[in-house]
Amino acid sequence: MTDTHAFGHPFDRDDDKLREECGVFGIHGFADAAAHTALGLHALQHRGQEAAGIVTYDGHQFNAHRDLGLVGDIFASEQIMKRLVGRSAIGHVRYSTTGETVLRNVQPLFAHLQFGGFTLAHNGNLTNATALRRQLAQRGSLFQTTSDTEVIVHLMATSDASSMIDRLTDALRQIEGAYSLVALTDSCVIGVRDPLGVRPLVIGRLGETYIIASETCALDIIGATYVRDVAAGEMVVLDDSGIHSLRPFPPARQRFCIFEFIYFSRPDSLVDGSNVYNRRKQIGAELARESGIPADVVIPVPDSGVPAAIGYAEAAQIPFELGIVRNHYVGRTFIEPSQQIRNLGVRLKHNANRAALTGKRVVLVDDSIVRGTTSIKIVEMVRAAGATEVHMRIAAPPTAHSCFYGIDTPEPSELLASQMDVPAMARHIGADSLAFISMDGLYRAMGEAGRDADRPQYCDACFTGEYPTTLTDRDGDDTVAQLSLLAELA
Ligand code: SF4
Repeated sequence: MTDTHAFGHPFDRDDDKLREECGVFGIHGFADAAAHTALGLHALQHRGQEAAGIVTYDGHQFNAHRDLGLVGDIFASEQIMKRLVGRSAIGHVRYSTTGETVLRNVQPLFAHLQFGGFTLAHNGNLTNATALRRQLAQRGSLFQTTSDTEVIVHLMATSDASSMIDRLTDALRQIEGAYSLVALTDSCVIGVRDPLGVRPLVIGRLGETYIIASETCALDIIGATYVRDVAAGEMVVLDDSGIHSLRPFPPARQRFCIFEFIYFSRPDSLVDGSNVYNRRKQIGAELARESGIPADVVIPVPDSGVPAAIGYAEAAQIPFELGIVRNHYVGRTFIEPSQQIRNLGVRLKHNANRAALTGKRVVLVDDSIVRGTTSIKIVEMVRAAGATEVHMRIAAPPTAHSCFYGIDTPEPSELLASQMDVPAMARHIGADSLAFISMDGLYRAMGEAGRDADRPQYCDACFTGEYPTTLTDRDGDDTVAQLSLLAELA
């Protein structure tokens, strides 16, 4: 394992966006499994850009390489790829929500358990990891990382179940929160989605080989076809005899993360069975129907606002123009990240295209507002380029609550929508008007009649504050929380 540190990418982050934390990929029984995993992770790079890792199994031993940085940099070396021998592999890209970004936290994690080697990669976040960690440490477990994922490995190590699969099941029944996992043993690759299916996980096929990945874009890149989603609460096992489906949890109603459709997933992915691009266009169309306003041009905030802006422009019958141009190479700048350069902020990333803006009444479409810092600069930039009016339209409801399921959210005190109402937000960002899609509008764009208040069809907690699981670590009452999770699942 090489413990070199890649250079950071100080401008590649947009601190005014929520950040998806991780992407996972697994493949069993395919020559060059590591290279295919590296390609899959490259397609999932938008889900995490701080670190990546691959572990393979070659029939005798596990081979691992993990590092900080981008997939293309970490796995560019022929030497490294040659060491990742084997016909089975899993991989992971990450930001860090829990556990600081140090190499020992970079996944996949690896452990020698009673039945052999076990390696694990996790997308999501456990909401009782601190409580479980405390209990495990009291019983003598020695933790190697600060990552919540390691709790699963320790629960497996202390389980007395009689097989690897049963130990994993035993461990998963004790955790709460959101997880889409891929795991590798000396005989199989395992994929699991939490009982509510909060984070995505899909199954693909390449010839006779099955693949598990966070999104279908990771299947496309290796020429694999989409088979289906791993169902909420399903465990799939890929081994030499094919694919097997297990249902280790009591049935529960799925609560997929609705924000995957708004922002996290790639627009070319099929997520939860639906094309993300089309869903985003439908959100834009709903937004136009709900809060249309006379204007000359619809301008997306690139890149994530583009599909919603197209949908808005089509529904409102207003021309769509690229009024803001994004520089995609800011992540690779050679300029030192001094405070003065940081203050240039949005201008490093976006520039106004005057030809599309001067003298125009502009509808600006963005996917979400988090802190509002980028919105202020974008509105200012569009005005400075000669727009006569700037109306901001947002393809998400106001984001007023933190996510505990694997998305890096600022504290509520930093979320603009938790601090002020919509008119105050409009004044704050300097827009002539501001409107967000309504909750029912968002659900209509998902093909629903509206939000079912009694049994919501998705997780929408960062908008509503209604969390679909207990939050043991936040609320600090282990027993009550565990019991209510069990009651919810029953
Ligand atoms: S709280 Fe928001 S971002 Fe987090 S899983 Fe739920 S919908 Fe997704």
